[in-house]
Amino acid sequence: MSATLERQRANKAQALGTPMVELRAVSRRFSKSLDFAGKIAKRLGAPIREEVVHAVDHVDLTVRKGEVVGLVGESGCGKSTLGRMVAGILPQSEGEILWRGVDRATLSGAEAREAKLQAQMIFQDPMSSLNPRLRVSDIVGEAPLVHGMVRRRDLDNYVDEQMRRAGLDPAFKRRYPHQFSGGQRQRIGIARALAVQPQFLVCDESVAALDVSIQAQVLNLFMRLRQELDLTYLFISHDLSVVEHLSDRVVIMYLGRVVEEAPAAEVFARANHPYTQSLLAAVPKIEARKKAFNTVKGEIPSPLNPPKGCHFHPRCPHAFDRCRVEVPALKEIAPGHRSRCHLNDEPGRAGMPA
Ligand code: SF4
Repeated sequence: MSATLERQRANKAQALGTPMVELRAVSRRFSKSLDFAGKIAKRLGAPIREEVVHAVDHVDLTVRKGEVVGLVGESGCGKSTLGRMVAGILPQSEGEILWRGVDRATLSGAEAREAKLQAQMIFQDPMSSLNPRLRVSDIVGEAPLVHGMVRRRDLDNYVDEQMRRAGLDPAFKRRYPHQFSGGQRQRIGIARALAVQPQFLVCDESVAALDVSIQAQVLNLFMRLRQELDLTYLFISHDLSVVEHLSDRVVIMYLGRVVEEAPAAEVFARANHPYTQSLLAAVPKIEARKKAFNTVKGEIPSPLNPPKGCHFHPRCPHAFDRCRVEVPALKEIAPGHRSRCHLNDEPGRAGMPA
């Protein structure tokens, strides 16, 4: 990345405003019900309990107004669960979520409704998130009409405006979702989200299912909307290369925990955590003429039974005894750059990340 682009991003990060959303020690647990044999065994007195998955484990995260935060990790790391909690469609098990400085759990009535509308989520698979029996005009127009944002007599024009904004031709608004391509369906999802005038979009793998050329078009659309509508984004992806060009800040998750967080330029220039370094090594580099992906070595462990100490230790090339027993803390290693790795306490060790 050029020095100018790096400088521009740093200036932008400084100019960014107050927190739009703030997570304080937020956790989310899911219980896995016992199967039939387990229930019988329990009834017969066997000491069996339901298994608990710590999908998200004490996460602190702040997204400021106007900022684009990229949230990255492998599938099963808890990033989608975190995104759903941020968007207000899944309650947390523990911790606080502040929406514009106010604990969202304390909001009620019109305030709670408004907070919900202002944070919208855009999903990976538009086909499963769009009602196949509704025409696009109804998909886009239903929520603003129900919430009194537009009068019925103005609805047609309002829907046209949202479709144009999302790069769709309003002439096709009487069609059904299956009559569109994958990229167009994703644009219908975006038009539906924009129709309730959100301030914050949580995009969960929103381009993962699209062809590479369509991905670029949809990413450009997100960035144009950011400028036009002053939007804030939490952009969730398993792919660092997708978030590289649009994020101000990048947060890396591994098995429910944040392991590294820094301005985007810093992550790509000076990744500290061995997991982030492995993810970066997995991004194909055109200049290196690499055609095949290297993936992070080893399987991600089951969240039902995560490794003790540092969750990453079974896959980490730098692991040492302390990593197997002690959970590393997320510590600031440079201004705005935090990492969760014991190596940062032992700078003399061989294998210290760059
Ligand atoms: Fe690797 Fe240990 Fe750092 Fe975890 S704490 S990333 S195992 S060196």
